[in-house]
Parts: sequence; C-alpha cells; structure tokens
Amino acid sequence: MGFSKLKIPKLCEFCEKPFEAKTVSTRFCSKYCSEKQAKRQKNLAKELEEKQSFLKQSAKKIAQIQTRPYISVSEAVILFGISKDTIHRLIKSGRIPAHNFGQRLTRVSKLDLESLFTPVESPLETEEEKSDFVVGNCYTISEVSKKYKANPGTVNNLIRRNKIPTKQVGSFVYVPKRYIDEIFDPK
Ligand SMILES: [Zn+2]
Repeated sequence: MGFSKLKIPKLCEFCEKPFEAKTVSTRFCSKYCSEKQAKRQKNLAKELEEKQSFLKQSAKKIAQIQTRPYISVSEAVILFGISKDTIHRLIKSGRIPAHNFGQRLTRVSKLDLESLFTPVESPLETEEEKSDFVVGNCYTISEVSKKYKANPGTVNNLIRRNKIPTKQVGSFVYVPKRYIDEIFDPK
C-alpha cells in the first residue's frame, strides 16, 4: 500500500481549474486555493450572522414602532417600506397631516398612513348593491324565516356568518334577497 502513482483528474473547488489530485478527497489544486476557500467560507458565515442580527434588530425596532401612534418620518420608512420623499410628498400635498412636536420633530400618525396604504374594505357600492334594499329586492328576517321554514335565530346566524349586509328600518331588519336565496335555494 502507500501512495498510488495514479493521478486523479479533478477541478479545483476554488479556482475551478483542472488539476491532478493525489487522492480522491483532494479538493483544491494548491495550498493557496484551499486557504482562500477556507477564508471565503468564514466570511460567508460572518456575513450570514451579521444579516441575521440585523434582521433581529429591525424586527425589534418594528415591534417597538408599532406600539406608538405617532412615528417619525424615518420610522415610517421602515414600517411602510416607502421612501422619505414619498412621505414628505404626502405631507406636502395634505394627504396626511404632519404633527410638529418641536423643532425637527415632525411626526406622522401611524393610523393616517395605514388608512392610505390599506385597501378600503368596502369600496364604492355597485349598482347592484345600491338596489339590494329597494322594496321587492329584500326580505325581512321573518319573511326569510317563513319562506324557508328556518327559525329567526338560524337566519340571523346565517346572515352574520356569511357577512350579508343588512339594513334596519324601524323594527325591521332587511336583507337582500339575492344573498338569502343563494344560501337557501341555490340555482
Ligand atoms: Zn485552485
């Protein structure tokens, strides 16, 4: 046994040049390349660690910002992922009010920004939605209950669970027929 005279053709894992290895486990063409690779590995690990600690830091910062109703412009940048310029433009155009808590202490309200960047839950009513409560297009709860032989409690539950819009007129609660019929009598 001992050294094999056979040379094994390989590619260096650092410089990627072909070389003849003495053993199957040789990975680098030279000591230089093997040291370079070790250094690169170490740097990568360090970078990763730094990145993770940065993420941890910003998570902490974000959590902290989120507890305050008024935030600075640079905090708004972090929280909403928009640029300083955008925020200043929003303030200048009057879309959000700026609150001055002293010199160089411009604060914006988190709620103001949230309402700008969160989609409105029910946008403009469609024509169909407008006509939902026109006489003839809606039932009262007791009409639903009579028509579909369901007790009023069940009807109310269904309305709530399916988030069906209702309208109260005096002591009557109206619900659009189209939603109710879809549930009880799907076509
Ligand atoms: Zn090499």
